[in-house]
Amino acid sequence: MFIAANWKMNLNKKSIKSFVEHLKIYKFSKNVQLCIFPPTIYIDFLSKLIKNIPISIGGQNCHHQSFGAFTGEISAISLKEFGCDYVILGHSERRIYNKETNEYIKKCAQFGIKSSLRPIICVGENLDQRENGKAIDFIEKQITDCLPEDFNELTIAYEPIWSIGTGKIPLQSEIREMHKNIKDIVFSKSKKNVKVLYGGSVNEQNIQEILSINNVDGVLVGGASLKIKDFLAIYGSAVKHLKNYNI
Ligand code: PEP
Repeated sequence: MFIAANWKMNLNKKSIKSFVEHLKIYKFSKNVQLCIFPPTIYIDFLSKLIKNIPISIGGQNCHHQSFGAFTGEISAISLKEFGCDYVILGHSERRIYNKETNEYIKKCAQFGIKSSLRPIICVGENLDQRENGKAIDFIEKQITDCLPEDFNELTIAYEPIWSIGTGKIPLQSEIREMHKNIKDIVFSKSKKNVKVLYGGSVNEQNIQEILSINNVDGVLVGGASLKIKDFLAIYGSAVKHLKNYNI
């Protein structure tokens, strides 16, 4: 079970320090892995603070070249050097605001893998596509076009755009269908298994329901990962869920 906390462009030194103070006294379970994706500028700061806490750290994006004249970009090699294990790629906000395409995301994922990072590739339909029955085909194309040529380990985050930050989540049956489909598509193309996280308005109230859906291997949490109380409540519910199901 994996919980990814995407802090986006939020928090500062003071709030991160206070967040970590609470983590220091928390008893973590081996069965639920945590990774925090802070703003790039705070990766080193956070990484030093959580040195003795079983939490991984990741980047919110990376470029597809090692180094060079790419103002404002972040190299996968630099992420790795500063202790990152994971990198989120193709988040819908980057697809929309930074015009990242599937082809671009695929190149970044390949370079991330080459740099020993574990990519989490985000896919997700908009409301119009969901309402017009086009979600499955749209996600199939996103996955086909973003899939790295070669990988040992890959995670896909299914994040319907209409669910991010809105408090609305898909029906259980819609999440079940999409996650199964994503696994089938990846397997048919690569003969490899993939982990699929659900992302979009995950909170303390809905986490148990989401985790009980087949083929949900964890969650990507945005807004609710910014407050320590909400974050630990989600984590605690995930641990409880595994205990209830004896997983
Ligand atoms: C996200 O942006 O990746 C996300 C899941 O956000 P939220 O949890 O706030 O919907």
